[in-house]
Amino acid sequence: MTHLYDDPKAFTEDALAGFLDVHRDVVVGVPGGVVRAQETPPGKVAVIVGGGSGHYPAFCGVVGPGFADGAVVGNIFTSPSTEDAYNVGKAAQGGAGLLFSTGNYAGDVMNFDLAQERLVAEGVDTRNVYVTDDLASASADEIHKRRGIAGDFVVFKVAGAAAEAGYDLDGVERVARLANDRTRTMGVGLAGCTMPGETEPLFAVEPGRMGVGLGIHGEPGIADEPLPRAADLANLLVDKVLGEEPPDSTKRVGAILNGLGATKYEELFVVWKTVSQRLRDAGYTIVDPEVGELVTSLDMAGISLTLVHLDEELERFWTAPAHTPAYRKGEAEGAKAGPRRSEESLQGTTAQLVAGSDASRRAAATSYDALEAMAAAIRQAEPELARMDAVAGDGDHGRGMVKGVTHALEAARAPLEAGSGVASVLAAAGDAWAGKAGGTSGVLWGQFLRALGAAIGDDASDVSATTVAHAVRTGAGRMQELGKAQLGDKTMLDALLPFADELEREVKDGVPLAPAWTSAAEVASEAATRTAELRPRLGRARPLAEKSVGTPDPGATSLAMCARVVGDVLATRGNDHDENPGK
Ligand code: ADP
Ligand code: MG
Repeated sequence: MTHLYDDPKAFTEDALAGFLDVHRDVVVGVPGGVVRAQETPPGKVAVIVGGGSGHYPAFCGVVGPGFADGAVVGNIFTSPSTEDAYNVGKAAQGGAGLLFSTGNYAGDVMNFDLAQERLVAEGVDTRNVYVTDDLASASADEIHKRRGIAGDFVVFKVAGAAAEAGYDLDGVERVARLANDRTRTMGVGLAGCTMPGETEPLFAVEPGRMGVGLGIHGEPGIADEPLPRAADLANLLVDKVLGEEPPDSTKRVGAILNGLGATKYEELFVVWKTVSQRLRDAGYTIVDPEVGELVTSLDMAGISLTLVHLDEELERFWTAPAHTPAYRKGEAEGAKAGPRRSEESLQGTTAQLVAGSDASRRAAATSYDALEAMAAAIRQAEPELARMDAVAGDGDHGRGMVKGVTHALEAARAPLEAGSGVASVLAAAGDAWAGKAGGTSGVLWGQFLRALGAAIGDDASDVSATTVAHAVRTGAGRMQELGKAQLGDKTMLDALLPFADELEREVKDGVPLAPAWTSAAEVASEAATRTAELRPRLGRARPLAEKSVGTPDPGATSLAMCARVVGDVLATRGNDHDENPGK
């Protein structure tokens, strides 16, 4: 259980406020996360880590000299938004470029890639390194699909120390990738974690069993096995992790025996006794091992073993001093040296309003009504979407969609009332959706709406059915470009692409927009239902692909629902867009 909270929905913000107060000498808050209290010295590369919260000390706990320059802080187990990552990056960078590093989760990857795009466009050299240490999450020939778990700590530590030592951005990126290549983790879950305000854990482990191959977001283990003695568990972890030793191993390893939040330090020491013995017997020198809580998952019980195979350079950075709220080592230079950041450097950004043409403003009004109808439908479907996502994902799809569409609707109002066109209105809506929903679906919906609006434009002289069909196609293309999913991967695209195809076909045949949209929405619904047969090849549900068979994809289901109710809105708004059917 998570026992203590005020408003469960504000748990992350409340925890962050307390954290920033107690560690005010080292860190300060910025929109989207935290940065070091002191300015980044000119010429120093900034290393920004991040991900969802619920993992303390990861990730805001490791901001400080010798380690990270900033941390982007998402909601519990939810990717931060693009805006969050951009703001933290902008505040932390000191002119020598920045490295973003986070675990390899679809939502994080998309948001940090988009933030990178924005920063690069503004002239800030930005590199992204995604951590893939979790052995259990994909086979060795699909390493790029693996998740980042406790190995995050190793990569972040090494990158942070390299930046502190004066490496340039190329150098920091190189050692971060090297650390990632040489780091492997294996873990087991012993009991599920409970979100603040909830009474049931996200998953359960039967007494006397363990989930082998744990996730750090309440994902159940990959395999269910009997729980052995601590010594046998230690052997299992060592065997698995050493199973992928690099061919040029120096036999010098950094090690983390990580507790997930509810496993006692004493239990970890019991396991470590065997782990360390086994490693030494096998001829390894263990360098600066860490046994304790470094990457947690709320109150989850479980442990993981991480090994990093060190070369001389990695060892230097693994053992380098650091001074952060949650992790101190040796005497880090500059713990409180240098000027504190100014207030202005800690502010976020605001968008500008653009006046729209008459046709574009009418389309903006239709979009607003469409979002309103979507919000109502999604609110009603929230429990069903949550259930679907809990089968193989993390159960947050209902909540994420409600948050996203509700904030999108709210954000659309001001530009609409100020006379903006559909591009500006949907950009505001999309950014709010992505910013507040978090998660994979949030960023994809946000970019979809943005691209759809931009394809129509703020100054369109007329918005025909052809224009709308083309705009939907453009939005789908953007979603595909960003998420890199193909048809059949069991994602939203399995509903969206058939929808876009059918809409184009109908409109080409001269069918007016509303009936064309409605028949496309029917196609999308059927396609969403058929995703039950598929195995997810991307996203959080992929490691549990078999469990997902028989349940439709939650993202495709909610998208089809939205398409249906937007069809109803178009039907009641009459022939706004039908002046030029078939054009
Ligand atoms: P998260 O997976 O971050 O918890 P949600 O639960 O809100 O996010 O959304 C899950 C949905 O996101 C999936 O059901 C799927 O439809 C969609 N999704 C995941 N990855 C992709 C992708 N690469 N491209 C398109 N849609 C995706
Ligand atoms: Mg989810």
